[in-house]
Amino acid sequence: MPLCNLRIDLEAIRRNAARLAELVAPTSLAVVVKANAYGHGLVPVAQALAGRVARFCVYELGEALALRDAGVTDPILVLGPVRREDLDAAHAADLAVTVWDLDFARRAAVTLRRRRTPLAIHAEVDTGVARLGFRPEQAPAAIAALRETPELMLEGCFTHLASSEDLDEGFTSLQHRRFTEAVDGVLPTGAIRHMAASAAAMMWPETRLDMVRVGIALYGVWPSHESRLFLQSRAIHSLHDGDPTAGLLEPAITWTTPIVALREIDNGEPVGYGCTWRAAHPTRIATLPLGYAEGLDRGLSNRGSVLVGGRRCPIVGRICMDMCMVDVTEVPDAHVGQQATLLGRDGAEEITADDLAAWCGTIAYEVLARLPLHLPRSYS
Ligand SMILES: *Cc1c(COP(=O)(O)O)cnc(C)c1O
Repeated sequence: MPLCNLRIDLEAIRRNAARLAELVAPTSLAVVVKANAYGHGLVPVAQALAGRVARFCVYELGEALALRDAGVTDPILVLGPVRREDLDAAHAADLAVTVWDLDFARRAAVTLRRRRTPLAIHAEVDTGVARLGFRPEQAPAAIAALRETPELMLEGCFTHLASSEDLDEGFTSLQHRRFTEAVDGVLPTGAIRHMAASAAAMMWPETRLDMVRVGIALYGVWPSHESRLFLQSRAIHSLHDGDPTAGLLEPAITWTTPIVALREIDNGEPVGYGCTWRAAHPTRIATLPLGYAEGLDRGLSNRGSVLVGGRRCPIVGRICMDMCMVDVTEVPDAHVGQQATLLGRDGAEEITADDLAAWCGTIAYEVLARLPLHLPRSYS
């Protein structure tokens, strides 16, 4: 087991869910728990929210079955592909699956022929991501065919937005129009229409329809810098007092690891493979027992920082497979066993998923989704 810990604050996730539900009401809130609940832990997060949200969205069947095994009885939608041979398992677990292909629907109907109840499905329409979904012009006929298939029950219909986190709403409006034109008047009564993920749910109320599918915001992270600025500016226009985005989303994860060794090095001495960093003065180096095998992106070499004793300490030298080194010269009482914080708060300082992402040239989504499964997680 790696000597590090991910501490997940389930109460913060619950508060985020409650505030997001309030923000989008009367639209219902579905939460996205794919990629191990964006690194936070699929089963604990879902158990913390069970009964409090309209639905869970997962990417693959295995994630949905893990939730059922853990006793989660809420509605679950599988967003990604399900193999035909797994449809029985999906049906037995009372899941809804996404359909974007009539051949698949026909073969599913054959597989499910002798079941007493139909399999719930959501039809996906591709309005501009070019990923999954019926083309808008094919959607009315496809939906009609799905409605005529007794083995399938069309519970919902959705699309996914390509650039809703941008300040320019042009493409979002176009996708919204394509979707509503494709599905209006062809869905069965009671079918749920949904399109907004976190950014659109917060920024573009007209995209909320019957349900929103919120992922990143549930975990206390803004979908983009622009999305936060947008909500701040809107509040200023409406003369709302205070910043409405402050406290709306609380990060829920803290990643710590103990210092396992300390040394003093002289002016000019190198640190790490390739001697890519050299001390400019006598320096105290702390060794941390985690590296890229534990999910610390090697791109953080000589770029990132960690918190020790409430201070920012730079990562120096190349990150190794299972270890890395940090400069703790500015923390006179740094000692072996002291916890260093890679993600989260220590005293007045905080390292966010956005900070880590900016340092290694990616987005917070990837930082969270790639937190390895094998890291120990504890929950409060
Ligand atoms: C991942 C995903 C979401 C959630 O997106 P966020 O930006 O994290 O809120 C919603 N819908 C679909 C189809 C997705 O793949």
